[in-house]
Amino acid sequence: MKDAILVLNAGSSSIKFALYPVISVSDTGDADNQAPLIRGKITGIGNNPILSAQDRTGNKIGQNRLMPIAPNTEYDDLIPNLLGWLESSVDDATICAAGHRVVHGGQGHDKPARVTPELMNDLEKLIPLAPLHQPHNLAAIRAVTTALPDLAQVACFDTSFHRTQIKLAQSFALPRALTDEGIIRYGFHGLSYDYIAGQLPKHLGARANGRVIVAHLGNGASMCAMKNRQSVATSMGFTALDGLMMGRRCGTIDPGVILHLIDNKGMSSQEVGQLLYNQSGLLGVSGISNDMHVLETSISPHAQEAINLFCYRAACELASLTIPIGGIDTIVFTAGIGENSAYVRQKICEHLSWMGVFLDDGANTKNAPRISKAGSDVDVLIIPTNEEIVIARATCNLTNSRPVTGR
Ligand code: AMP
Repeated sequence: MKDAILVLNAGSSSIKFALYPVISVSDTGDADNQAPLIRGKITGIGNNPILSAQDRTGNKIGQNRLMPIAPNTEYDDLIPNLLGWLESSVDDATICAAGHRVVHGGQGHDKPARVTPELMNDLEKLIPLAPLHQPHNLAAIRAVTTALPDLAQVACFDTSFHRTQIKLAQSFALPRALTDEGIIRYGFHGLSYDYIAGQLPKHLGARANGRVIVAHLGNGASMCAMKNRQSVATSMGFTALDGLMMGRRCGTIDPGVILHLIDNKGMSSQEVGQLLYNQSGLLGVSGISNDMHVLETSISPHAQEAINLFCYRAACELASLTIPIGGIDTIVFTAGIGENSAYVRQKICEHLSWMGVFLDDGANTKNAPRISKAGSDVDVLIIPTNEEIVIARATCNLTNSRPVTGR
């Protein structure tokens, strides 16, 4: 029987899971490419849940309709279901610990933490800061605790990576009392940035510690300016609404627009929240889809307008992030759009040609690891992200399991 680490990323309508083998420190092999024993997701939570999964060679091993579950008891029902399914599907592995993605760790958690009742109390208090994600992340932890009370669990926070930032970079120009009560720029996507930071030396050698801006462009999108592979500044702020235009989120917006919607258009704060989180971004501007791939294949001028605005806003954010790190040596594209859309990368980099950013069109079209032209002042790379392995590794390290491969 192999010991294995269960990685869970629980959202409102889906839960992603992976099972990583725990192997010995010396047996690192090509650690970065270590595939999980099994990876999958349950979609349609709260409605008609379906589990789909694949093994380490990418073969489909499950497409199961699960028992419908009562609303608001999602994870209490689903987690035992999932654990039972894993047990019967991977018969040579036993789960020795579970690691969870938790969106918010507040100011107090600059690294992953073992789950304890005290930690859960702490994290509950942060729900108002991340109401769309935190409750589901915590519900999954509680459901695992109920199903397997003795299993060691670890929470890994999307905010932790940014706690290296100086106060200046984390502050809003608000009255001091509000800053003191925690209304600051937290930043998100930290697990992805942590993974990329770990990969940089392999791609850049000594330049890895230089001025790097990582563009995490997925359904959610943000950028992080790094020096010495640490976060110096990031585009997301107090919530994951700030910064870049995203699939459904507006990104940075004049706060006066929000006041106008409430005061003059009679919208409630819930309606404004719904508008900014779910009806804006690529979806709102195109009126067609939040999905970049769909927009790229559309002939609608509104789809093109949405892509243009996404790329323009991304280039503006990137340029502003050069200030905290005093220039730029390297751009890294990652996540769904960053890794796969040659068109978006090309359009963003066209805006940045004045900085000496020049792409090799052939390499860009092929999604090659290095897509900048020889002679470009700025290196441009594509590095596929892997948040799961960051969680698996932290979980191993904090639960005295032997280290998992990766990073
Ligand atoms: P993520 O949230 O990282 O899974 O990224 C999802 C986004 O990546 C969606 O907008 C997808 O349309 C986009 N995406 C994935 N593959 C492609 C592709 N080949 N071309 C353009 N966009 C893509």
